[in-house]
Amino acid sequence: MLEIKCPWCGPRAQTEFSYAGDATLTRPSLDTATETEWYEHVYLRGNPRGPHDELWHHAAGCRRFVKVRRDVTTHEIIATAGPHEHLGGGGK
Ligand SMILES: [Zn+2]
Repeated sequence: MLEIKCPWCGPRAQTEFSYAGDATLTRPSLDTATETEWYEHVYLRGNPRGPHDELWHHAAGCRRFVKVRRDVTTHEIIATAGPHEHLGGGGK
């Protein structure tokens, strides 16, 4: 089981959190994006090896979103921060 350090609650068990998706996605422009850009944004995801930035929802705790940098190969939690904070270099 993973232990995720919530910035507001401290270290908590993974079972208190729900995975909420890729934290690196940026939404296409509502005014200028093509149908292909929307298709890629909604349906296509990479599967990178190594550190990856993810959003987790602390559903059984403070109910806030937490940005987590996790190595998807080893499951090591490298860093956590608020959803709008920058985790520093190294994530994908
Ligand atoms: Zn929390």
